[in-house]
Amino acid sequence: MNKYSQKQILDAFRGATRSEVKKVTFPLDFDDVDFDRREFYGWRDRKMPRRAYIVVEHDDELVALILNRAEAKPSRRAMCAWCRDVDLSEEAVLYTVRRGGSNGRRGDTLGTLVCSGFSCSKHARKLPPAFHKGTDLKAIREEQVAGLRQRVHSFVAEVLSTED
Ligand SMILES: [Zn+2]
Repeated sequence: MNKYSQKQILDAFRGATRSEVKKVTFPLDFDDVDFDRREFYGWRDRKMPRRAYIVVEHDDELVALILNRAEAKPSRRAMCAWCRDVDLSEEAVLYTVRRGGSNGRRGDTLGTLVCSGFSCSKHARKLPPAFHKGTDLKAIREEQVAGLRQRVHSFVAEVLSTED
């Protein structure tokens, strides 16, 4: 991803009200975030514990979405639907996003299980703990990263598909 300013990100929110965007709090380490090695950028709002955000370059456009962490916890440790990290090294939680357009205004949401701290890009670059000699590790990593990118984009596309 390219590096973006907070202003650019605030301007990229879709399906959010003006007052919701006004309340967005960026993480304290925002200036140090390495966008180069990320398929998307996500963070939790430190002032609103159940609120989080993701930013992604989608169809050559910057798109930011508000996520709400569901109250109910998954009954057992679940795998993140985006990075599919088999080690479950980060808790995956259910986040919901308001759908685009009038569907969203009527309360229609889409949910997905995602790493609670959004370190999916890091997990996708991990190599398998055991592999045969001659395994193309670079190809494995590229495949994992491409899979993550594809799943994030199809989720965002679905959220935006009801925009009017
Ligand atoms: Zn993940």
